[in-house]
Amino acid sequence: MNSEARVLYEDLKVHLGKVVPDIELFYKAEIAVEINRLKKERDALILGHNYMEPVLFYSIPDFKGDSLDLSRKAAQTNHSVVVFCGVKFMAETAKILNPTKTVLLPSEKAGCSLAASITAEDVRDLRRKYPGVPVVSYVNTYADVKAESDICCTSSNAIAVVESLNSETVIFLPDQYLAANVARETGKHIIFPSLLSAAPAGETLLDVQMIGWHGRCEVHEKFTVEDIQAVRQQFPDVVVLTHPECSPEVVAASDFSGSTNAMIKFVRESNGPRYLVLTECAMGDNIAAANPDKDMLRLCMVRCPHMNTITMENVRDALVYNRYVIDVPETTRTRAYNAVKRMIEIG
Ligand code: SF4
Repeated sequence: MNSEARVLYEDLKVHLGKVVPDIELFYKAEIAVEINRLKKERDALILGHNYMEPVLFYSIPDFKGDSLDLSRKAAQTNHSVVVFCGVKFMAETAKILNPTKTVLLPSEKAGCSLAASITAEDVRDLRRKYPGVPVVSYVNTYADVKAESDICCTSSNAIAVVESLNSETVIFLPDQYLAANVARETGKHIIFPSLLSAAPAGETLLDVQMIGWHGRCEVHEKFTVEDIQAVRQQFPDVVVLTHPECSPEVVAASDFSGSTNAMIKFVRESNGPRYLVLTECAMGDNIAAANPDKDMLRLCMVRCPHMNTITMENVRDALVYNRYVIDVPETTRTRAYNAVKRMIEIG
């Protein structure tokens, strides 16, 4: 191990010694040094989503955060290459904001169950069925769906985006649970035409305020109220945090619900004796590493199979072999850009 890798290994050990086995830190510190060298050679910016595995998360990204943070950073960069350690819809968003840059996604398998749940044709069908109703698409959608939308949102600004439209009725896609949680917060009620074989008799726009879709995150849908009850029984003083992609019942049974960044901030700024964070498992590890004085409980049966395909090895290979290049057709990109830009302006 050279001296640069040794310094990085010692640093990782301080932050991650309780979370990651020593042999893994040792091995990955050497790859991180190689990546950091390639990053300079290629004039690359590395963005790391909160769901990345701990060693990657704490060693190579120039910026870390949730989808909204990373979209903003992607929009501001002067680097000629952006490597997105996240999933495809995020890398596409970076490309939408930076058409002249090379955007690389290290794994071809980094998809998303939510993004895959809806197509551009589905959105056009809904627009035909509900003419004039504005379409809000969660940022967890592919570029062609964004292009059919009026505005995008993330879990951290979904309520502000819906309220900004000043519309009696909103089409909110594609996350069924996020839509239900936003409807509860904004006082709107919701129907899911995609779950109905036929529209209910007498349905009109006047009694529909929010129109949803049947998409779900395959990670967050797994958490149950029974999980929370079982943990509370064992640890009555636990503070339970949930992501709004969990079901409304699970959100209601928790003490706090918010985006990944909001959960990180909540743990950092509060003094609970122990926390249970119901979201992607690697993020629980990353919060534990950032708050060594706090007791973090985790239900680690759930890792996102898509985020999990991003590894130190394939980030290095992305820079060596210039792969996998993300392209968005220009006509799709310009239409999607308007929806993403409106989202970023809302903050
Ligand atoms: S955690 Fe859920 S929403 Fe996020 S990429 Fe994985 S499947 Fe998609």
